[in-house]
Amino acid sequence: MSALPWHREALAKLAGRRDRLPHALLVTGRAGIGKTAFARELAKSLLCESPQDDLACGACPSCNWFGQGNHPDFREVVPEAAEEGDDEAPVEGAKDRKSLVIKIAQVRALGDLVSLSTHRAGFRVIVIRPAEALQPAAANALLKTLEEPPPATVIVLVSDRPARLLATIRSRCQVVALRVPAREAALEWLAAGGAGEPEVSLALAGGAPLLARDLAQPEEREWRRRVVGELSRPDGAHALAFATGFDRAQLERTVLWMQTWVHDLVRVKSAGEPRHHLDSMPALKQKARRARLEALLGLERELVEARRLVSHPLNARLVAEHLMMAYNRATLG
Ligand SMILES: [Zn+2]
Repeated sequence: MSALPWHREALAKLAGRRDRLPHALLVTGRAGIGKTAFARELAKSLLCESPQDDLACGACPSCNWFGQGNHPDFREVVPEAAEEGDDEAPVEGAKDRKSLVIKIAQVRALGDLVSLSTHRAGFRVIVIRPAEALQPAAANALLKTLEEPPPATVIVLVSDRPARLLATIRSRCQVVALRVPAREAALEWLAAGGAGEPEVSLALAGGAPLLARDLAQPEEREWRRRVVGELSRPDGAHALAFATGFDRAQLERTVLWMQTWVHDLVRVKSAGEPRHHLDSMPALKQKARRARLEALLGLERELVEARRLVSHPLNARLVAEHLMMAYNRATLG
């Protein structure tokens, strides 16, 4: 792992101030631009024992431990459902039953960690992501830690929804706002990684390269084909049949495709060019003709709300069905 090319400058700037860094940072920015990679690379650079141009050297003992995932002065706190290796859960739906929140016990365990001195006599770095997953009690426990910052410790919160954090937590962090990288840099990175149709994927992802890389996977392309096929039906989506057997991951992607599709419909309806589904112009034009602009804008707001709810345990089938019916109401005139 090395820094994403569009992060190098910001990383070097932060890591270069290692002696004057605040105790807590809040890394924000759109989903899919590499905030987690940024936080990890920052940690690696701060822990590195012989940094090169302020970034991790990749060769010292500290960098080696980090690369193997067992640096004693690094901790990453995530919801149970996001823990690594979980993608291969042997039991169908096992992921759905795991916790989506960061619990108070996880934050309390940090208290034990920071009361010890660091193993390598340097920094200790704790990454918490996504910070909005902190349960209220866990957030309050973290606040206490931030109010009395432990020595030689940098806490890095990662969030694409910082408005959902406690204001008291936000105010104790220095915000590092990451932006969507320049299109050329993103395309170059995608092509180097072997992603098929990088331009299409990047447009679908609204310019976010890591999301684009995920969306370029065959199974993701297949799912998009299915959702767009449903949204393109001249007689309206078959909401009930479509939503049967839905799980949360499918709902998350469906909401993404509906959001980008409705956004494109609004643009086409207002005589503009689509931004995401560039390869579906005829269907977009056909659907835009009968759709009501006012209703599309209302649906956009509803989809934003749905995206927020996706991270909560809920009945994915019912939500998908409801959204598809709302779509029909907006597009069948
Ligand atoms: Zn190193």
